[in-house]
Formats: sequence, structure tokens, C-alpha cells
Amino acid sequence: MNSRRDFLQKAGLSTLAISLPFADPLSAMNFEKEEKVLRVAIMGLGSYGTRVAEAMKDSKRAKLVGVISGTPSKIETWKQKYGIPAKNCYTYDNYHQIKDNPDIDAVYVITPNSLHKPHSIGVAKAGKHVICEKPMALNAEEGREMIAACKAAGVHLMVGYRMHFEAKTVEIVKRQRAGEFGKTLFFQGLSGFMIGDPTQWRLNRELAGGGSMMDIGVYSINGARYMLGEEPIWVEAQEVKTDPVKFKQGVDETITFQMGFPSGAVASCLSTYSMNNLDKFFLNGTKGFAEMQPSTGYGPIQAKTNKGPIEAEHITHQTTQMDEMAAIILDGKKPLIPVDGEEGLKDLVIVDAIYEAVRTGARISLI
Ligand code: NDP
Repeated sequence: MNSRRDFLQKAGLSTLAISLPFADPLSAMNFEKEEKVLRVAIMGLGSYGTRVAEAMKDSKRAKLVGVISGTPSKIETWKQKYGIPAKNCYTYDNYHQIKDNPDIDAVYVITPNSLHKPHSIGVAKAGKHVICEKPMALNAEEGREMIAACKAAGVHLMVGYRMHFEAKTVEIVKRQRAGEFGKTLFFQGLSGFMIGDPTQWRLNRELAGGGSMMDIGVYSINGARYMLGEEPIWVEAQEVKTDPVKFKQGVDETITFQMGFPSGAVASCLSTYSMNNLDKFFLNGTKGFAEMQPSTGYGPIQAKTNKGPIEAEHITHQTTQMDEMAAIILDGKKPLIPVDGEEGLKDLVIVDAIYEAVRTGARISLI
């Protein structure tokens, strides 16, 4: 954190602010006000947990102070690497004791999808704020249980929607809300990658809750909602499977889906585990368009509108996310695009409807 001396030097001032004729001594003192820091434990030290831990090194408001893991060797490595004290290390069997640890404020749940509900509810019952990875749960019913548990415990529930804080995404959303594109009537979301190892949990229905839709398709669902600024009223969906050995019953390989919105806007989206380089959002209105490609990868995000490119510095998404989530929890800050449990639930209601539409072939009403 910058000291007042650093601030003054950066501002090109060599004397104390108090000696300047325009300086208010009280506001100058504010530069020295320490901002509170959110002390976070990560649960699930896998690939994404590692990415979040690395990003948190640059966070001004969030600090990694603890771990919850089922792998003793990882705990040892993380203790060394991130300077985590032994008293802040837990397993899935004893993490409920975290309630007696005053040095941890929040737990970031980064385990496989089917564990999000039990782990988040366990954390809430231990009285700690919950940050849970996407998808928040396997279905809307689970999502509602998580919201109720966090409410009962008086803790925040947030979903790891890192794009909600990404600068170019936020800029397009602001322009859409300001009417720059006119009446926005069409969104296209393309989300996919080629999945490798057939034995991984993402291809295990028990742990993943489905296939590409649970993992990557949720970005197009979520993106359609924040880019159009509306909630869908119906869903249609179609499934295509080219490899029924790799993508077993209940594990979707590719789903195309459409959503209709109250304004008359429609969204046309694709979710797949069988194509790479599929990461694109396109929004069209009566006066203009916005295009993002890549739109939800780790970045840099590329964005343009009919007026030209959108420029913004690339900051590691998870660093900004953790700074902003700390501000939400510690300062009560309200984000432009919500990241709370209700926001996660809205996506899960749509996921449920998409799977029902695939099963039945019918248009599913959401009202
Ligand atoms: P990994 O498989 O790399 O890591 C998951 C970790 O969860 C494991 O390393 C393990 O950690 C722990 N775990 C606990 N129980 C199990 C189990 N039964 N099987 C496997 N792992 C278990 O997955 P990811 O890190 O890629 O994904 C984790 C979550 O993060 C998912 O929900 C995913 O959707 C989300 N994610 C979000 C991204 C985003 O951009 N927002 C990007 C990537 C993933 P340990 O050994 O410490 O117990």
C-alpha cells in the first residue's frame, strides 16, 4: 500500500501536502488511512486455485492466508510458496474448525462443480464469507439452498464471475445501458474449447453435473444477460454428440441454444467441448454493435464497437476480481454487474431450462 510520501512523489510533489496552500490537512491525512484487507483461504488447490493464488499476490485488498486441501503434499508446497502458517491449513475433514480461526475472513471454493454446494454451505456454517467458482451449483435447487445457508449465517455468497470486473466488458455494458447501440436486439455467444484427458472430472457427470454447458456454456448464458441487460423469458436448445464414448450419457459435448427476452431481443449461443478458439460475443442494436473476441478467456480481451476499438489496460482478471470482491465485502461496494448468489442462481435457472429443452425438444418458458 502506498504511503503518503509515495503518493506525493508519484504526484510530483516534494513537500508535505499540509504545506501547500490548497491542501486540506484532514484530507491529506486520509492518504495515510489503511484500507482493510480481506483474508482469504482457498479450498481446492488445483489448476484454477493456483491461478487465483498467483493473481492474489498483486491484489491490494485481498490476501491469501489459508488453504483447505485433500492433498498433504500440496499443503506443504503452498505453505512454503505463499508463507501460509500451519494454523491456517485445513483438510476437507476438519475445515469446519475454521470457525474458530479469527485470521480468515472468507473461503474461495475452487473444487469440482458438484462439491460447490456442500463446500459453500460448510463454509457458511463456519461463519466465513463464501466466494464460489462458476457454475455456482449443479442446478437452481442447489443454488437456492446455498443462498439460504449464507443468508442464515449472515455471510456473503459470491460467484467467481471475473468478467464482471474486466475493463472492456464493463465499458461495453456501460455503453449498452447508456443507449449507444440503440435498442439491442441480438446477442451471439460462442463458448468452447477442445477438452483433453477423458478421465478428468469435467467429463464425469457425478462431479461436473453435465458437460460443456456447466463449464464453458455458462459464459454465454451469463454474457447474454449482462450484454443485453435483460433476463430471458424462454429458452430452446439442441444437443449434438459426435463422440458418445468420450461424452457419456448426461455429459454434453455440444449444445446450441437460443433465448428470448422481454424487449424482443434474441440470443443465439453455442457451447462445446469439441472446438478450439471459440470465445466470441457479438451484440447488435438499432444504432450500433459491440464485438468481443476473445470475450471471456484470461485475456487480453479484444473489444470493438462500430465506432472503433475499445482500449483498456489488461490487468490479470483474478487480481481485479479479488480487489473488487474485497471492496464488496469490506466496504459494501455495489458492482455494476452483480456477482452475488442471486446472480449465480439466475444462470442456474437457465442451465436447468436448457437441459430440459434438450430433453423435451420444447420451448421452455422462464416466466
Ligand atoms: P482442478 O481439477 O484443476 O482442481 C480442482 C481441485 O479440487 C483439485 O486439485 C483438488 O484439490 C480439489 N478436489 C476436491 N475433491 C476433488 C475430487 N473429488 N476430484 C477432483 N478434485 C477434487 O479443476 P479446476 O481448478 O480447473 O476447476 C475447479 C473449479 O474452478 C471448477 O468449478 C471450474 O468450473 C472452476 N474454474 C473457473 C474458471 C474461471 O475462469 N472462473 C477457470 C477454471 C476453472 P486438492 O488436492 O487441494 O484437494
